[in-house]
Amino acid sequence: MSKGLISIVVPCYNEEKTINLFMTEISKIEKEMKEAFNVNFEYIFVDDGSKDTTATILKELEQKISNFNYILLSRNFGKESALYAGLKASKGDYVAVMDVDLQDPPELLKEMYTSIINEDYDCAATRRTTRKGEPIIRSICARMFYKLINKISTTEIVDGARDYRLMKRNMVDAILSVSEYNRFSKGIFSWVGFKTKWLEYVNKERAAGETKWSFWKLFIYSLDGIVAFTTAPLAISSVLGLAFCIIAFIMIIFFLVKTLMYGDPVVGFPTLIGTILLVSGVQLFCLGIHGQYIAKTYLETKNRPIYIVKEKSNKLQKD
Ligand code: UDP
Ligand code: MG
Repeated sequence: MSKGLISIVVPCYNEEKTINLFMTEISKIEKEMKEAFNVNFEYIFVDDGSKDTTATILKELEQKISNFNYILLSRNFGKESALYAGLKASKGDYVAVMDVDLQDPPELLKEMYTSIINEDYDCAATRRTTRKGEPIIRSICARMFYKLINKISTTEIVDGARDYRLMKRNMVDAILSVSEYNRFSKGIFSWVGFKTKWLEYVNKERAAGETKWSFWKLFIYSLDGIVAFTTAPLAISSVLGLAFCIIAFIMIIFFLVKTLMYGDPVVGFPTLIGTILLVSGVQLFCLGIHGQYIAKTYLETKNRPIYIVKEKSNKLQKD
């Protein structure tokens, strides 16, 4: 009798170079875990609209491996949406989400599984302790982002946390119930709660292929995270507005008194220009913040699907 089914959910975008490397590694772990714990695996690979031969490779693997399933999305929806599609199709008692580039070491699955089984955790997640192999400027910005979001949001976002984790079914169902369009997974994983054990490991570099994240994409992603998990920027902009009103009031009194006492020679032109520029800058900045929230609200109210499936493997057809 099997002691349970572990679903391995893997989003792929232009990953023709890494899929087979990943399968070789994970198959070893599958065998070891079957022998040690008597658990079975099911694979759910989600092709996120790749432009290379990823989809063909997935179809070939499905022919060869009996517990291999694939979902092809109709275009590139982004990792977060691909993850959601994979989680939705998963049937396991435990579900692991992992990247296909072997930056998430498959051998950690054993420790994750034992943590959940023996130590009563709902989830075992991973955190990298270093950012080796990453551009320095990116590491600095990432650190700043985590500091900032944890100050202004009540949902804890752990610095260095990977998406790589093994979860119990109840946690997966909770994540699926969060069906928002603007998906910031790191926040959602934390927001749903449950008892999480953090396993640490040293950062690994990609086995092959290239990262899909440019600096600019990461920047936009971090803004999405802030907008999705805190409304603090709105409060900050109100406070800024109030502060400038107070300053303006004090300045009016000051100049009024000054004019009454000393007359009104036309001086102070640079101060005037400086003030106008500063205040209008702050206004635009605050307007921009409001715009971000309105834009996200607009997208949410459209209620568009998070992903669209083009094709999926036969075994997934029934559900
Ligand atoms: N990915 C995806 N859709 C995208 C971008 C990435 O499904 O639009 C997948 C990618 O194939 C990989 C994982 O998400 O399995 C992580 O991507 P990547 O390695 O580029 O990110 P990094 O590890 O550099 O943060
Ligand atoms: Mg990677």
